[in-house]
Amino acid sequence: MSAFEDRTRRCQQRLSAVGADAAVLFPSTNLFYASGFREEPGERHLFLVIPSDGDPAFVAPEMYDAQIRDASWVEDLRLWSDGDDPAQVVADLAAEFEIRGGHLLVDDTMWARFTQDLRETLPEATFGLASEVFDDLRMRKDDAELDSLRRAGEVADRVSVEIRELGEEAIGMTETELADEIERRLAAAGGEEVAFGTIAGSGPNGAKPHHRHEDREIRRGDPVVLDFGASVDGYPGDQTRTVVFAGDPPEGYEEVHETVRKAQQAAIEATEPGVPAEEIDRAAREVIENAGYGEEFVHRTGHGVGLDVHEDPYIVAGNETELEAGMVFSVEPGIYLPGEFGVRIEDLVVVTESGCERLNDSPRTWESL
Ligand code: ZN
Ligand code: ZN
Repeated sequence: MSAFEDRTRRCQQRLSAVGADAAVLFPSTNLFYASGFREEPGERHLFLVIPSDGDPAFVAPEMYDAQIRDASWVEDLRLWSDGDDPAQVVADLAAEFEIRGGHLLVDDTMWARFTQDLRETLPEATFGLASEVFDDLRMRKDDAELDSLRRAGEVADRVSVEIRELGEEAIGMTETELADEIERRLAAAGGEEVAFGTIAGSGPNGAKPHHRHEDREIRRGDPVVLDFGASVDGYPGDQTRTVVFAGDPPEGYEEVHETVRKAQQAAIEATEPGVPAEEIDRAAREVIENAGYGEEFVHRTGHGVGLDVHEDPYIVAGNETELEAGMVFSVEPGIYLPGEFGVRIEDLVVVTESGCERLNDSPRTWESL
């Protein structure tokens, strides 16, 4: 059984457990997770219908025939051509699967025009969200997923080292030029595409956690927050280092950097099965609060990472989810001093039976390499 089929079978068990009759997926990370077929959302009807038992089926435009057969283990394809009424294909499939009046979980990211269409086509059905079964399933990664995430981690590590070796060469580059250089190297290192907008925040721009990059030139002594990653098999890398490429850092920087590094280390040491997610946030926050920077740590400590770069489990106060082996998330505390600089250090970790394994291992020091 392929990893994708295995995930579909586990999805079916959960559908039954929550009293749902089928999941109806739209081109999304859930659809890829279950089928192996990856596509961007588009204006044509393309669904994967997973009944709570039996085999799943695609409803798809005819032009996708070969593409789906190559990518997916799902053999049942209900194809329609431009000019046909795809709603009729959906209605026929629902009748055959005996889910016309059932409880259907639709993809959370399905476009409203398609959910509306499903409601009109299946007026007796009731609807819920596919996240009800998929969020929990996807939180524990299988071996194939961990392998992809490890490789995405290696890509980020390699580029992290290469970029830090620029040293003096980075002085005078704009943030945008540096971000372009990072993205070029991510591709050269084997990344498929950037996993999110690359962040190169120099000097005061580093104090804005979601600043991306602009035309500000990097100066000697500037701390630069570098947060980037590329995906491998659809699984993202996500790593942050804060670097001074050349010159002396601003006053107080070394202490702030060391505080963040210790906070990150404390959170990683706290990570093991059975510990509530919020305790990991607490471990990092305590170090930063004790150093007097509690007010300047303005975001949660981390987020789960999988086919979506932000997914469960969130490492945040109030999340009592107990960690289990196979969960993957970021540990990324930061301190942000408005108008001056910011520091963030981020690695992805996978929870193991006895603790955790880091998926990133490039140096966490601030000096150029
Ligand atoms: Zn990041
Ligand atoms: Zn992150």
